[in-house]
Amino acid sequence: MLVTKAYRYELDPNNRQRSHLHQHAGVARFAYNWGLEHRIQLFKDNHGTERFTDAMKQHKFLNSLKESQFPWMYQCSKCAPQEALRDLHRAFKNFYRGLKTGQRVGFPRFKRKGVRDSFRLTGTIRFEGRKIRLPRLGVIRIKERKRSYISGRFLSATVRRRADRWFVSVTVEEEFPDPEPPAGGTVGVDLGVKTLATVSDGNTFANPRALRRRLRKLKQLSRSLSRKRKGSTNREKAKLRLAKMYLKVFNIRQDTLHKVTTYLAKSHSRIVIEDLNVSWMLKNRRLARAIADVGFYEFRRQLEYKCKWYGSELVVTSRTFPSSKMCSRCGHRKKALLLSQREYHCEVCGLRIDRDLNAAVNLVAVSLPETQNACGEDVRLLTSPLGVVEQTSAKQEPNISPRLNV
Ligand SMILES: [Zn+2]
Repeated sequence: MLVTKAYRYELDPNNRQRSHLHQHAGVARFAYNWGLEHRIQLFKDNHGTERFTDAMKQHKFLNSLKESQFPWMYQCSKCAPQEALRDLHRAFKNFYRGLKTGQRVGFPRFKRKGVRDSFRLTGTIRFEGRKIRLPRLGVIRIKERKRSYISGRFLSATVRRRADRWFVSVTVEEEFPDPEPPAGGTVGVDLGVKTLATVSDGNTFANPRALRRRLRKLKQLSRSLSRKRKGSTNREKAKLRLAKMYLKVFNIRQDTLHKVTTYLAKSHSRIVIEDLNVSWMLKNRRLARAIADVGFYEFRRQLEYKCKWYGSELVVTSRTFPSSKMCSRCGHRKKALLLSQREYHCEVCGLRIDRDLNAAVNLVAVSLPETQNACGEDVRLLTSPLGVVEQTSAKQEPNISPRLNV
């Protein structure tokens, strides 16, 4: 199995390298904005008929202007503008696909200085002891002592700034033996705001408190920033303090999500989650902050790739399935269930159960069609009277039927 993995390290650049990194990020941003303007202009000139140019054509055009108009670009690797134009092309492709399919994908936007500084490089990327060699930038020290990757072909390196720190993500193509599905059986996972994840086997993962405390601090810091005079040193300092706090919050959230998703993918052969329509939920103002904070999108994204790594299967149920309103013992459906009711009490069979656990158990039940219970066959596309169940990753050994613990 060929797997593309990314390994992230923190760079430890000296002052000269630091300004060189800034320069590269600047060139990438410039190329992106230049390309965007160029495309908009093309569109206007041709009265909307020719709307596409590709990244390669654009890069050639930019190169032809380099010597006369942008000679300072020679100080940086040619990959930085090239990859930026590729990103732009992708952004346009997504935008047009959105128009076709009715998804809401925004028109590509201009990048601002100092916001999401990053650039991508291809070419000679190599580790040399505790240093990394990057094209044009040379050898830069990395802070981590141990290198976690083993072998494989380097595809690219993306360098990003977060607050005042620089990170490099190295994308590596690695060959792994096909994984055996883990022996843990099927579990349902209910995602929530108070409890991050409730697993149908009884395990729960709390949302870290450290996060909530820091969110309050975040508010305080952004208020303090808004009071500082524009262009002043104090404003810059306040900005950095805020950026550092954001990074901290991001790291805590990411750490929790990784722990949960790794646990799930490594120890269960099949994981059932609900397809939450997050964009709809984000419109609910009261929930919005809390949900964005939990990172539901990120949870699913991590689970998807980790399931492929560890040979487990991810099943996503349709969002019409009323997992929280249904009784997990007798199937009775409540008409309404307030968000504040933490315990599910069934008026038909008398079951009293934690609300989230009830939902998680229901998810397991809906993913198991009758045929599978009866003869233990692996069914590829599952349908149930309650809603269509879609499978995103179906990697199962043909002669191993999943063991079920329900
Ligand atoms: Zn019941």
